[in-house]
Amino acid sequence: MPEGDTIFRLARKLRTALAGKTVREARTSVPGLDATTLEGRTVVDVESRGKSLLLRLDDGRAVHAHMRMTGSWRLFAVGTAETRALAPSAHPRGVKLLLVLDDVVAACVAAPVVELLTPWQQRHHRATVELGPDLLGATFDPDEARARLRARAELEIGEALAIQSVVAGIGNVYKSELLFIERVDPFARVGELDDATLAALLSRARTLLRRNVGRGPRRTRSGEGPLLWVYERSGAHCLVCGTPIRMRRQGAAARSTYFCPACQRVDRTPDRSGTLTRVFVYGTLLQGERNHRVLAGSPLLGHARTRPAYVLVDLGRYPAMAEGGTDTVVGEVYEVDAEVLGALDALEGHPGFYRRVPIALDEDRAGYGGVVGYVLPPDEAGRHPRIASGDWRAHRSA
Ligand SMILES: [Zn+2]
Repeated sequence: MPEGDTIFRLARKLRTALAGKTVREARTSVPGLDATTLEGRTVVDVESRGKSLLLRLDDGRAVHAHMRMTGSWRLFAVGTAETRALAPSAHPRGVKLLLVLDDVVAACVAAPVVELLTPWQQRHHRATVELGPDLLGATFDPDEARARLRARAELEIGEALAIQSVVAGIGNVYKSELLFIERVDPFARVGELDDATLAALLSRARTLLRRNVGRGPRRTRSGEGPLLWVYERSGAHCLVCGTPIRMRRQGAAARSTYFCPACQRVDRTPDRSGTLTRVFVYGTLLQGERNHRVLAGSPLLGHARTRPAYVLVDLGRYPAMAEGGTDTVVGEVYEVDAEVLGALDALEGHPGFYRRVPIALDEDRAGYGGVVGYVLPPDEAGRHPRIASGDWRAHRSA
């Protein structure tokens, strides 16, 4: 999920490039959106509201794009090769809206929602009305934000802070970072926290977001070493106390939360129902490889081979396995708890990129019982070179 500062930066970039310019040509792939009514209109402003972007037009209407996880805007000079490649006929699904404005082309790509709002709709639209106080807004109201948090007393703070109708602008990165910096247990209920703690979290969120509105990579710490304290660092040592950082899924949306169990005193019983899962790994999670630390010390049950029912392909820095081939893939089997399984799902992008599915192992190894692993859809894998040996390490060192 993009953070508030990402959309804010994007809005600023688009404002600089588009404000005052007139739409000469408009094309869309969104059913029901009549893009031709944009032609002849001038962009007067571009504004971010939480995860939404609004292009305001001189007739009072606005183009609203909700960016969610995937959306982006791209800018090109008129007539460049990229512009021609972006012609909607070439990308009917990827390009949601293509605007030619005087000398510049703006393409809204892969945004899940693109719509045209009348002035009335802008005042009543869910995306622009139901947002909580905007942490990057000039008129941010901390008392209002705290009251909205208080109204969700039953939620865990790590879930509540990322709900945009409570307070707008915090995504997964800042959520984990600011809870760590303030040493707050992400799994504490809002109702258990005092006003001073909530105020400190909101103030920290605003500071972090504002600091990152400028250029350069997103960072929450200064000095040597990583740019972030805990985000995407599971298995690595806490930069304050040395305890391994952990990740756990949280809330209705099962978003990842990274934390230091010691610094943030996360000592309530984790929701690990005692369930252990056996996972077959075959690439960067193998012993000694770059992502092995995500397994966080989970026991290795042994080396294993799949039945000859798969294909292994080379994606460059890592391999991918897919169902439906005739090859045997070589790997290792680990026994992991729910928390590590969650970290693996996050790393592999399950279920959007790789999918976690049952894996059929060689007869000799059937003693492992139900084993899962991460695979790509066969047609996606089919576009990459096959590793006939089924052994990524051997292939790479060859
Ligand atoms: Zn720590």
